[in-house]
Amino acid sequence: MSREILKARITRLKKIIAALDQTYPEVHCELDHQSPLDLLIATILSAQCTDKRVNIVTPELFKKYRSAVDYADAPLAELERAIKTTGFFRNKARNIKAACQAIVQKHGGKVPQTMEELIRLGGVGRKTANVVLGNAFGINVGVVVDTHVARLSQRLGLTKQKTPEKIERDLMTLVPQNQWTLFSHWLIWHGRRRCSARKPDCENCEIFRLCPQIGVRKSFNHG
Ligand code: SF4
Repeated sequence: MSREILKARITRLKKIIAALDQTYPEVHCELDHQSPLDLLIATILSAQCTDKRVNIVTPELFKKYRSAVDYADAPLAELERAIKTTGFFRNKARNIKAACQAIVQKHGGKVPQTMEELIRLGGVGRKTANVVLGNAFGINVGVVVDTHVARLSQRLGLTKQKTPEKIERDLMTLVPQNQWTLFSHWLIWHGRRRCSARKPDCENCEIFRLCPQIGVRKSFNHG
């Protein structure tokens, strides 16, 4: 990307950010949690599952398992039953148990606060680590790229990349670091409320004028 193109893209992005900030002033992580551990568990459960469904399951779960030791010591079958409705429950239960065992054994029962340590816990990938660092600890070391962030970044012409890792790298170049966590929330909120995968509501979109609508079918447009 030439310097000029990068400069123009950053200028447009600043306007997009200002508009999204104005549209969603209350933006926040939509996974309910009270502690870093809660958020780690909720994020693991959110893979291939809606936040809404996760939020139905977690109140009981968090009441029953209050510490990393509780998850680490829980019989796998019991944990599987407790999270069954979030899907892929066998894998998720295994990942939760493995991560919590590592938290107990290597981190004194506390969720670690660095990317390197988090991704070394079994079953925790970069995306989950970014969610926990950004939302539980206020540390911006990356941009969460989920399906909404990937789709909107492409439609908005912020990246041509397809894989989350490469999209994240592009976004980290464009977005100011102190806004990395907020930025993914804005795109996730906008993706859920306006720019859905199947039928983006371009006509009523708050950032219509700033969006090149890359890959959006013409029939969705009004221009
Ligand atoms: S203009 Fe359309 S494609 Fe662009 S962000 Fe808005 S809804 Fe999505």
